[in-house]
Amino acid sequence: MDTKDLDVSFLSQFVDYDGHETIRRIQDEETGLLAFIGVHNGNLGPALGGCRMFAYVSEEDAIKDVLRLSRGMTYKNALAGLPLGGGKSVIVGDPRKLKTDALISALGRGVESLGGRYITAEDSGTNEHDMITISKETSYVVGLPSAADSVGGDPSPVTAYGVYKGVKACAARRYGSDSVKGLKVSVQGLGAVGYALCQYMHAEGAILTVTDVRQESLDRAQAEMPGVSVVGPDAIFDVEANIFAPCALGAQINDVTLPRLKVDIIAGAANNQLATPAHGQMLADKGILYAPDYVINAGGVICVAYEYCQRIGKNPFSHDITRANMMTHVDKIGSTLEKIFNIAEARGITTAKAADELAEAIFRDHKKVALA
Ligand code: NAD
Repeated sequence: MDTKDLDVSFLSQFVDYDGHETIRRIQDEETGLLAFIGVHNGNLGPALGGCRMFAYVSEEDAIKDVLRLSRGMTYKNALAGLPLGGGKSVIVGDPRKLKTDALISALGRGVESLGGRYITAEDSGTNEHDMITISKETSYVVGLPSAADSVGGDPSPVTAYGVYKGVKACAARRYGSDSVKGLKVSVQGLGAVGYALCQYMHAEGAILTVTDVRQESLDRAQAEMPGVSVVGPDAIFDVEANIFAPCALGAQINDVTLPRLKVDIIAGAANNQLATPAHGQMLADKGILYAPDYVINAGGVICVAYEYCQRIGKNPFSHDITRANMMTHVDKIGSTLEKIFNIAEARGITTAKAADELAEAIFRDHKKVALA
């Protein structure tokens, strides 16, 4: 296996380069692995972030993605109150055609080569089976099976719980009460997170309009949550509602959809909801309160962080590592959003910018800590 750290003179040609600590190129001829592991900033602790496998058209595309995604994880982990830095890995190739256990094992050896500076997890194109495969090569992996009442396990329900708490914080900000009873909420995407989010809101009495490209998810929602309305995938942007929760794809707030939105709040699970930072300003100009995506959807990363700390037997928190305490940690997403909204209002900046600045204040000058 060949490993090589890309040098700064090469990396600085990329607009997404931000003084990343390490971008390691890993190539393994025997298994066909070509991957990049990025550690953006490890001031708060070892860099945690998922492993994405995707049919990148070029090495440059993969490097661009690992730069962007690893940086994003630094901000996310900082605002989630975790003793973790930001990292990510990307594997070049279509997972449906090229993924084998041998290739994933080679990635595991690549992760091990960083000696604990990077901890990997599931992302698009990888799954729990892959994390189990990786765990045979390195201990720096999360998202392994665990008992339902312990920390760890499937992070999606925890993400949904965090988004629900975030939605309530937005309602409190906008309407003076955190209750969603009687509020109209439109939800795009009834997957692992979106469906569970709907269940929380339905139980509290929200009036839901949902969409998905999978008819069976819509049928299930209507059968299990009486009163839920269904619209087509494109019509969700025209629904008049208090809250819009994007829980499907990225870049759903864009030039085409934004003028159509008739909502007060955008608060959902999807990553990279804004097509560009300018769309954050356009939302603010329209008077729409936007919950920055990486803040409101941090429940999953909090879940895997607790799993990791429990497994290595180190507790960086001021409380025991239990599922109940983990959920209390996730509850804090609400107060973090409140802080962000206050900063944005006081400084006249977008909530997305306020989140970035708050994260930077946490990780930039923090002295390195050892967890792994
Ligand atoms: P998922 O794949 O389980 O669900 C996505 C759902 O969106 C599916 O039901 C799919 O059919 C639907 N969908 C796809 N295209 C659509 C379209 N054009 N219109 C309407 N529906 C569409 O994914 P998930 O785990 O529920 O995650 C949802 C989002 O939240 C993703 O953007 C993901 O990156 C993000 N996220 C998830 C987690 C987590 O813990 N699962 C954590 C953080 C962020």
